[in-house]
Amino acid sequence: MYTPVTDAEFTTVSFLEISSSYLLRLLSATPRRLYDISEIPPTPITHLSDTETAMQETVSKFAKEVILPKVRDMDEAENMDPALVEQLFEQGFMGVEIPEEYGGTGANFTSAIIAIEELARVDPSVSVMVDVHNTLVNTAITKWGTNQLKKKFLPRLATDTVGSFCLSEPVSGSDAFKLATKATETSDGFKISGGKMWITNAMESGFFIVFANLDPSKGYRGITAFIVEKGTKGFEIAKKEKKLGIKASSTCVLSFDDVEIPKENLLGERGQGYKYAIGILNEGRIGIAAQMTGLALGAWENAVNYVWNDRKQFGQFVGEFQGMQHQIAQSYTEIAAARALVYNAARKKEAGEDFVRDAAMAKLFASQVAGRVSGLAVEWMGGMGFVREGLAEKFWRDSKIGAIYEGTSNIQLNTIAKLLQKDYTTSG
Ligand SMILES: Cc1cc2nc3c(=O)[nH]c(=O)nc-3n(C[C@H](O)[C@H](O)[C@H](O)COP(=O)(O)OP(=O)(O)OC[C@H]3O[C@@H](n4cnc5c(N)ncnc54)[C@H](O)[C@@H]3O)c2cc1C
Repeated sequence: MYTPVTDAEFTTVSFLEISSSYLLRLLSATPRRLYDISEIPPTPITHLSDTETAMQETVSKFAKEVILPKVRDMDEAENMDPALVEQLFEQGFMGVEIPEEYGGTGANFTSAIIAIEELARVDPSVSVMVDVHNTLVNTAITKWGTNQLKKKFLPRLATDTVGSFCLSEPVSGSDAFKLATKATETSDGFKISGGKMWITNAMESGFFIVFANLDPSKGYRGITAFIVEKGTKGFEIAKKEKKLGIKASSTCVLSFDDVEIPKENLLGERGQGYKYAIGILNEGRIGIAAQMTGLALGAWENAVNYVWNDRKQFGQFVGEFQGMQHQIAQSYTEIAAARALVYNAARKKEAGEDFVRDAAMAKLFASQVAGRVSGLAVEWMGGMGFVREGLAEKFWRDSKIGAIYEGTSNIQLNTIAKLLQKDYTTSG
């Protein structure tokens, strides 16, 4: 039985506690439809379940009270505050979909998407940490891990160990399956040699999912997923990148010098790594789209607060000039459209429907909206938008990454066009 949670309770318990004590798990994270919806009247796409609303409110409160005061300093220092990472675990935000039996929150995919969006509204760097950990790393272990791997790693991923997803390399970005990192089988496990590039969370991570080719004679069909733990001999972080945006999120070059791992650290089946990576990145794109939607809203809110409540010129608030109001209204409309694409893609995934085109459209559009709106928001604030005292310029810098990672905008367009052409091509 669902018991409403009061504001007072929100202040004293984490989402993890709320979830396990009070809330029903209304939707399953498994992709197949498990319930009959024929009798349920269609609802607005942005309608949230009680669990999802609780997640939204908890994350929003945490982001404003705990993250916001740290955002500027973390960006300047290009560093994620370790105390904040601990709090993200304590709140249950790092194990959103991990089943409760493994110490996770046991919520659904849309809850994870909502958490990512709410975090990005305040700090897109924290948002991407949570996004990669939940939508790529946790999901990969939940989907393809053996029972032994799940028992060993899911409780850690839910409570204290950050994860990274290592696919990209110096030679393989958009053409991800041209990767050169190799794995060889040994008497008691595997040996990995090569290098990875652009790996999010690497400085904070204790756990790395690494894609390597176990049988290069088979081309991309040799790609296999492995688990490498921090501290394994021969594995090191070779470089931490200095970036334009999301500076508090670590992005690193990794090197693997004959790194030996036990045979249990094979993730899933040999040669299936390319399928796993495609599948998981299709889902992950909805997370990046949510990040970009949250970022756009955060930039918009930050600016309208200034132009409607603070800054006056010619005797009135600058946001009251029609030339400003129209831009503000247009921007909010675009954010709402991006959010509709994001939630629709998430709902389709949960319903077990084909969501690949929807995810690509959501990521493409949300990143465009984030760039446009955060850029305009700087202009609406005049000089105050350009200085590093506030967050306007940071949102704009952070927005650029949306068109690059988890498939560039061109790659999303390729996917959308390919799927459309399939639907609209007459056979024969
Ligand atoms: C901050 C950051 C974090 C990241 N985190 C991770 C991570 O955690 N794990 C991970 O594995 N990777 C990660 N990446 C890598 C990211 O996914 C790649 O950067 C991205 O896929 C693009 O690859 P690339 O940088 O090599 O660009 P390239 O593939 O070299 O692309 C360069 C340009 O060519 C265009 N292009 C390429 N191919 C085509 C085509 N077929 N049609 C049209 N245009 C094309 C692209 O759109 C782009 O404009 C991260 C990257 C960054 C910058």
